Amino acid sequence: MRCEVVAVGTELLLGQIVDTNSSWIGDRLASAGIDSFFQTKVGDNIERLTAALRQALARSDAVVVCGGLGPTQDDLTRSALARVMGVELVRDPDLVELIRAMFSSRNRRMPANNLAQADVPEGASIIEQTRGTAPGLICPVRWEGPDGEPVEKVLYAVPGVPYEMQDMLERAVLPDLRRRAGDTGAIVSRTLRTWGDSESGLAERLTPRIDELDRTGTATLAFLASGIEGIKVRVTAKAATEQEALATVEAEEAVLRDLLGDLVFGVDDETMEHAVVSLLGTAGHTLGVAESLTGGLIGARLTNVPGASRVFRGGIVSYASEVKFELLGVPEGPVVSAPAAEAMAVGARRVLGADVGLAVTGVAGPDWQDGERPGTVYVGLAFGDEVTSQLVVLPGDRERVRQFATISAVDLLRHRLLAEQRAG
Ligand code: ATP
Repeated sequence: MRCEVVAVGTELLLGQIVDTNSSWIGDRLASAGIDSFFQTKVGDNIERLTAALRQALARSDAVVVCGGLGPTQDDLTRSALARVMGVELVRDPDLVELIRAMFSSRNRRMPANNLAQADVPEGASIIEQTRGTAPGLICPVRWEGPDGEPVEKVLYAVPGVPYEMQDMLERAVLPDLRRRAGDTGAIVSRTLRTWGDSESGLAERLTPRIDELDRTGTATLAFLASGIEGIKVRVTAKAATEQEALATVEAEEAVLRDLLGDLVFGVDDETMEHAVVSLLGTAGHTLGVAESLTGGLIGARLTNVPGASRVFRGGIVSYASEVKFELLGVPEGPVVSAPAAEAMAVGARRVLGADVGLAVTGVAGPDWQDGERPGTVYVGLAFGDEVTSQLVVLPGDRERVRQFATISAVDLLRHRLLAEQRAG
């Protein structure tokens, strides 16, 4: 089974948005064992879109088209699908009702052109929308095989908005594709999220295991470097039933956790801040932070987590040196230093009335500061009687240094909390 991706939108061609959808779909197709040899981007033009779909169908069995399903003039995917199928668009009364209901439940007036989203090519079936307003489509297409015999191919249309697209792909497109491929087994994957080692470092730790899995074929591992989200290790298993595949994935997760230890901070959607908020909660600690170069990013990440208020007292953005000295009690002297980071952590804990204080001070760049190079960051931690700091040297431009400093600080706290938990 071969499946291609066609991403629709002039803004993709102009570089105004990055085509992350195609990469995401490519990744999911590969995990499902479906070959995908081409990805196309095409602008909002009915002729060129139709040609792109025909070309894709000529060399593949299935095509996922993403984008251009909205109600506006330039959303042409529906019409292009009808042309390629050689059928008319028909307004689906159930969809009309659904779209009307969606608007009225949100107490919003429905612009008339929204009803265009209820237009369906004859013979297509609908992928119900659970999140946005545009339904997706599964469109069977009669095609001529190499010897002139009729073959059935398929076009899937999904919205461009990434989370709507992802939902429909997982829920409807991939299962349909696998059914068409005659694949009746189940595939389950799980992603372990890591922080603290490089991709090559992880690969080195896992090479013997990967070799073993290659031999046994029980599961596959894939690495995905995700910038400030760390490096993900995805385990995928295929089996006759979902239960069996899940059991294999769980067993493999245990093996990997053993090999990677505390580098693993979460699974699937769990972020670093989830991990830390949950560890703080379990330990019954509250946290106060003092941030210099990160300017509030640590507080912003921690408060992403629902329920963070139970453990997060607040943060002080002590950007100016005087604020560090006067509010936090940092002794006069260089503010990009280990003593300054430690004093900031102690000050944050005191001023915010928390049990634990966490602080960062450093040079975001591009200029040097106090004789220190950009990327020099000190993380301070006041934890019980213990006041410590760590120097981290971070690569990249100002934005990356600030983001990496944020996650490095949160990760330092995570390790300390894990050590406490282990000490019982
Ligand atoms: P809807 O019906 O929900 O409006 P749509 O099918 O009309 O969706 P588009 O109008 O093409 O989708 O795109 C909507 C938004 O989705 C874009 O503004 C962009 O932010 C995002 N988007 C579209 N295509 C892609 C893509 N290939 N990769 C990443 N994001 C995309």
